[in-house]
Amino acid sequence: MIGYITGFDGKSLTIKVPFTDGELLQRQGVTQAEIRLDDGRTISAEQRRKAWVLIGDISNWCGFLPEDVNGWMKYYFILDKDMPYISLSNCSMSLASQYIDYLVAFCVDNSVPCRKRLIDMAEDPNKFLYHSLINRSCAICGEHAELHHAEGSKVGMGRNRLEIPHIGLEAYALCRGHHTEAHQVPQYEFNAKYHLFPIKIDHRIAEAYTLKEEV
Ligand SMILES: [Zn+2]
Ligand SMILES: [Zn+2]
Repeated sequence: MIGYITGFDGKSLTIKVPFTDGELLQRQGVTQAEIRLDDGRTISAEQRRKAWVLIGDISNWCGFLPEDVNGWMKYYFILDKDMPYISLSNCSMSLASQYIDYLVAFCVDNSVPCRKRLIDMAEDPNKFLYHSLINRSCAICGEHAELHHAEGSKVGMGRNRLEIPHIGLEAYALCRGHHTEAHQVPQYEFNAKYHLFPIKIDHRIAEAYTLKEEV
């Protein structure tokens, strides 16, 4: 999202951000937002590298030249986000972040085989993990995922799983192999190894796993 500074009184900024997804705020109980000031810095070398690595993966997957893939992806991106034209040589850092996350989401949606882990490519890991949960795509390898509850957020043994209120508990999307591994090592070790953290289950996630919704 791109917002505009509409006021500054010496102590605080007033920022206006066009936003219509009130449902998202409710679903995830969002009360805070991270603000990064666009100080005129342009896309970093690291961001450019990430974008081209992802474009290379998409190119390998679909068989078209990277330059063409980049052209189309930029076109869909600006249409989808109602953004101005974007160039990877001199766009702003914040626009580059959004484009990279758009490419990451595309790779998740289409199970594009990627050379690097997407969690390390994502500019907003939160968004990536949420997207992986919704798409039932393993946050580590992209294979079809099942739900793994975070420690302290577990569904009790011997209780009817369908009767447990899942909404609000925290979870990961993991394939069978990575899910098995998650049960074999301490959670902090697993998180550190794969740079993961759990995401709060909302009704969209619950629906993806057909969990019973109870608040
Ligand atoms: Zn996996
Ligand atoms: Zn589990």
